[in-house]
Amino acid sequence: MKCEKAQQSIVLVTYGELPDEHLSSLEEHLAGCEACTRELKAQLAMHEALACYPMTDPSPNLLASARMRLDEALDTIPPHGFLTRLRSNLYSWLGHMQGAPALMTLLLGVGWLAGNFTDRYEVAHQPKLPSPVVLSNTTNGTIADISGIVQTPNSAVVQVTYNRVVPETVQGSLDDPQIQKLLLIGTKAAATNGVRTDSVALLANACRAGHQCADGPNGGDIRSALLVSLRYDKSPAVRLDALDGLQPYIVQDQSVRDAVLEALMHDSSPEVRTRAISLLQPVESDSSVRQAMRTVSTTDESPYIRTASTQALEGTAGIQ
Ligand SMILES: [Zn+2]
Repeated sequence: MKCEKAQQSIVLVTYGELPDEHLSSLEEHLAGCEACTRELKAQLAMHEALACYPMTDPSPNLLASARMRLDEALDTIPPHGFLTRLRSNLYSWLGHMQGAPALMTLLLGVGWLAGNFTDRYEVAHQPKLPSPVVLSNTTNGTIADISGIVQTPNSAVVQVTYNRVVPETVQGSLDDPQIQKLLLIGTKAAATNGVRTDSVALLANACRAGHQCADGPNGGDIRSALLVSLRYDKSPAVRLDALDGLQPYIVQDQSVRDAVLEALMHDSSPEVRTRAISLLQPVESDSSVRQAMRTVSTTDESPYIRTASTQALEGTAGIQ
């Protein structure tokens, strides 16, 4: 294979369009040609960079105008030459364009680049999330378990297969779905190092700050995790954070309201019960909320909470 042919194959292979039967001859060429290997690396780097941006299909208008410009350009060329044959070939290729993204990209040339540039300009000027950065520390991996042992007959050699847990650090926006998934796992962590407290606090912040718990990709999961923390977490500070995170959903979500009512009636921490009272005040027209508040205002062991719920009840009575 010559360099010229190899370069064509490199373009196709980066789009996953190179027929399998050409792969081995390209590999053979790359093994002996430094220039083409560099070209392949450069192409792959470009694809990686482009992959950071959303993939958009060219609009029908762009396609049509690119075809017209190509046609005009070919019209200015004298007939009966190599380019006339090229044009007739092009028309038969255009017929296959739907099924050949690599070819289409190449043919559209400048038009494609201009479209892409406009898209990139728009994307660059939109508020966007930075992609999370993963840092892994392979040297610190501890051995999690041994998954297999093979002893070679008649020898002292043993082959042990094991799984290693490699610590990784990821850094990214609180609005990033991957970060949120990790925080969700963090809400179930052991209490020793504050991971659970921090996870619940951060997710609660995300819920209060934006729409992450309403229409984000992890919205339902975050809300469920906060409900679990409110009901079962042993730390009153974590339950308070969970309450704060659930606050925007008390009006619309019955399961949230029930959990907050439960906290009002049965939470062991007076602080949590007090916060529940203030959160429930906006939905006091709900008869079950009023009933719970009445019960608490007469029977709670803490005089402060009795007063708070009485005031909350009187507050809405005054408004109505
Ligand atoms: Zn070469």
